[in-house]
Amino acid sequence: MKKIGVLTSGGDSPGMNAAIRAVVRKALFHDIEVSGIYHGYHGLMNGSIKPLTIGSVGDIIHRGGTMLGTARSEEFKTEAGQLKAIETLKSHGIEGLVVIGGDGSFRGAEKLSEKGIAAIGVPGTIDNDIPCTDFTIGFDTALNTVIEAVDKIRDTATSHERTFIIEVMGRDAGDLALWAGLADGAETILIPEADYSVDELLKTLKRGQERGKKHSIIVVAEGIGSAVELGNSIREKSGVECRVTVLGHIQRGGSPTAFDRVLASRLGAYAVECLLNGEKGKMVGLQNNQPVATPISEALNQKHTVDLSLYQLAKELSI
Ligand code: ADP
Repeated sequence: MKKIGVLTSGGDSPGMNAAIRAVVRKALFHDIEVSGIYHGYHGLMNGSIKPLTIGSVGDIIHRGGTMLGTARSEEFKTEAGQLKAIETLKSHGIEGLVVIGGDGSFRGAEKLSEKGIAAIGVPGTIDNDIPCTDFTIGFDTALNTVIEAVDKIRDTATSHERTFIIEVMGRDAGDLALWAGLADGAETILIPEADYSVDELLKTLKRGQERGKKHSIIVVAEGIGSAVELGNSIREKSGVECRVTVLGHIQRGGSPTAFDRVLASRLGAYAVECLLNGEKGKMVGLQNNQPVATPISEALNQKHTVDLSLYQLAKELSI
């Protein structure tokens, strides 16, 4: 293999730049040329490609977002779009591809591998919703952003003796809410993977009030539905006024944490190793602190699960 490409696709996440840097430097270390493909699969189909040098990826390890830009492309989901992408890759002499993104992006990488371009996926998403890796790049940074915000809200919750509901991202996965709730000592955590009822939640609030607790923090995963509606329902059923904060896109940005930079460096470099070993259609991940590669088809056939023992622990510690 003489030349590989790298792109970022789908939602951005902090640490993608560190992963790009690792891919580029690891490849150059092995005398392999690297092309940067801008704006995901859209840019790939349209030839938005430039060579990357050692210097091109200097001064990015600490930056959020992605220097390559990212995009979503409906056209690439079609056979014609994928063939167009293969054409572009061949015309640039690119024999292997590293795709940094989420599960949708991995399906694209799998399609390209089936059509003759070896592609390896690197999990970049704040949602931590990809199977076969303990963590995705960006999760830890988003988690730290959430807890910084919740700590601030807690100050006001304490001063004003109020109940706050904080909605965090995560798509259908509850990881971000669960870890943030545990790290923040939230009174209640609501995630899609665990059953909950408003009545149960009200009982918890009441128990807290009876032992003199004057404020409460409820962390809600976006996957369970609207925090605003939950707030309304609590008010209707109990008269308790909840203040609702939807944290939104601040969770996707910011300088990556040390954990995410190290994870991105390891997984980006490992993806290049996989290409050098002739592997394709795989995603890399970290399991038990070791980089591993799993066929994308196998990984995406599994359902991502949260560690429910953490949920139980959070419950026990917030009595
Ligand atoms: P993420 O990678 O963050 O999950 P998306 O699901 O939006 O984000 O996927 C990113 C891009 O990957 C899509 O815009 C599309 O171009 C490509 N993609 C998604 N699903 C498929 C698929 N089944 N086949 C081919 N390409 C896909």
